[in-house]
Parts: sequence; C-alpha cells; structure tokens
Amino acid sequence: MSSPPTHLMELPREILIGDGVISKLGSFITDLDESASKIAIITGNNVKTRAGAACKSSLFEYSLQDSWYIADDASMNSVNKLQTRIRNSIPDFIIGLGGGRSVDVAKMTAFKLNKPLVSVPTSASHDGISSPFVSIRGIDKPHSVKVNTPIGVLADTHLLSQAPLRLLASGCGDLVAKLTAVKDWELARDETNEYFGSYAANLAYMSAKIILDDSQKLLQKNGFGIRTVVEALISAGVAACIAGSSRPCSGAEHLFSHALEYIAGQNCGLHGERVGLGTIMMAKLHGLNWERIVKTLENVGAPTNAEQIKLNEDQIVKSLLTAQSLRPDRYTILSKLKLDKQSALELAKSVYVI
Ligand SMILES: [Zn+2]
Repeated sequence: MSSPPTHLMELPREILIGDGVISKLGSFITDLDESASKIAIITGNNVKTRAGAACKSSLFEYSLQDSWYIADDASMNSVNKLQTRIRNSIPDFIIGLGGGRSVDVAKMTAFKLNKPLVSVPTSASHDGISSPFVSIRGIDKPHSVKVNTPIGVLADTHLLSQAPLRLLASGCGDLVAKLTAVKDWELARDETNEYFGSYAANLAYMSAKIILDDSQKLLQKNGFGIRTVVEALISAGVAACIAGSSRPCSGAEHLFSHALEYIAGQNCGLHGERVGLGTIMMAKLHGLNWERIVKTLENVGAPTNAEQIKLNEDQIVKSLLTAQSLRPDRYTILSKLKLDKQSALELAKSVYVI
C-alpha cells in the first residue's frame, strides 16, 4: 500500500447546535474573533425573511455591523458578482445563511476573498454544512471542489425544523450514500493502492448507520430527526475534513448524481434525492443490502424511483454509463464493473429505480 499522503486536516473550530441558537450568532462570532466588527451575510430571499431579524438583532447586540447579499443561484457567475460587491467592504467574516445553495456560494466567495466562513444552515439537506467541498456551476469540473472548511457551524434546530420535510429526506439520502462511498474507497485501496483513512471511513460510515437504524423515528415531530440528521451531516463533513478529500462521503453514487445534473439539467430533484437513487444501485453492485437502503429512504419519505423526481429510464441509464467519465481519477465500483447499456438497464430495473 502507498504511504499516506501529506494532507492538512482543516476542521471547523466551533460547532453550536440547539434550539434557538440563532439568537447566539453575535456571541458565536465574537468567540471566534473578539476583534471582529464587520460581517457579510450571503443568503436567499426566503431565508432572509424567515431568519434575518433574529440574526440582525443578535449581531447588533455585539456591535457587529452587518451587510446582506442575496445569492441568485449556485453558479460562479453569482460568486464573481458577490466577490466584487463584498470585496470593498472588507468583512471580518462571511456567513452563509440558508440551504445548500447559499452555503455553497458563501463558501466559495469566502475562499475567493480569503475570509473565514461561518455556516448557518437552515435545512438539514446535505453534508456541505461543515465540509470544505462545494458544488458550483460554471467551474471546469463537473463535481464538487475543495475550498476552505467553515471555521464555525451554527445549527439552530428550531430553524431547521421549519424547513420542508423534503429537505430533511434529502439529507438522509446524502447520508445513506456514505455506505457506498466508503465501499468505493475500500475498493480503491484494494485495487489501486489508494490511501485509505480508517478513522475517516468509520466516521462517515457511522453517519449512514444511524440513519439506517433510526429511519422510522426520524419524522417524529419531537425534534429527534432534525437533531440526528444535522449531527450526522456535520459529522460526515468532518470525516471529509479528516480524510483531506471527499472520498469518505462521495463515491459512484455522487458521480451518478453529477451525471444526472449534466444530462437532465437543473430540474432533476435535490442533491440527496439523486444521490439516494444512486446509492440503491451502487449498493446492489457492491453486494450490499440494497433493500434495506430502499426501506430507509421510504421511511424518511425520500424517492426510491426515478419517476418520483420526474426522471426517465433513458436519463438514468445514460447517467450510469457516463458517471465514471466525469471523474476518471476516482476509482469506484463503476470503474471496476464497466457497465454497458444492457447491464445498466438491468441494474436500474432490478432495484426498481426504473
Ligand atoms: Zn453529497
């Protein structure tokens, strides 16, 4: 086996989770840097309406001057525009307040401006909350890229509980994906001598296992689901920080999801929904218990069939066939098995994705 590569483990420094912690945003920022005075907040219109006032009053309490910016979409175009607008105000921190899109745009903008980022998720929908990885359209890579890890994560479980359940289900899809991502990583270790970090792999695996074990309880209206899913997502993101790559969190099921975005355009479900479908199929290829993954996704209300997110047979098969070509350097079960049209069709049908 090749010796472990040298890599920097950049971890979030503070993570605050709890009901109503949005009211502690000001003290959270001051704890991270007591000399901070200017904050730039990147968010979406709906989230600003929902959480803006609470953020503002908490920042005001700590004499932090706030400027607000709306992210139009998760594209480099948005990042470039924001970078130009924010640059001159020289903020001490950038806050990404919102779902996947705002946090991703804020993360990339903070990276470009070389400013620390605080991630304030308003939905438990994907593991980018705490990881250094972003998915942005308009860069030369059709998969996520590495930037800086958020220095702080503030997850208000009350705020998160107000998000549509579909987003929570999508988060569960992104978590069960760690089962096949870790299997792909093991495969790369065994077949190509790639560096494999057991600790990071186990941490990512545990974040999937808790969803498998507790899927029947996650939708109960007692806050258990939100807390469990957001902690698992943060933990999975930290696993990627420790690995120094997205390996523990992202394998062939993510490549399949990226291929779907490429083939079906923007209207192809949420990240975790696509990844969930990919996980069912890759689990079958790995010889894992794919029925249990289907049951888990059903229990949390996530799609298990392409039609549920308006995708057709042709798009699924094409995505299975092109997924690996999006990232040839990432060895996965698709590199090993090299599906053709017939076997891809048979795979998707055998697990009822189509
Ligand atoms: Zn993901």
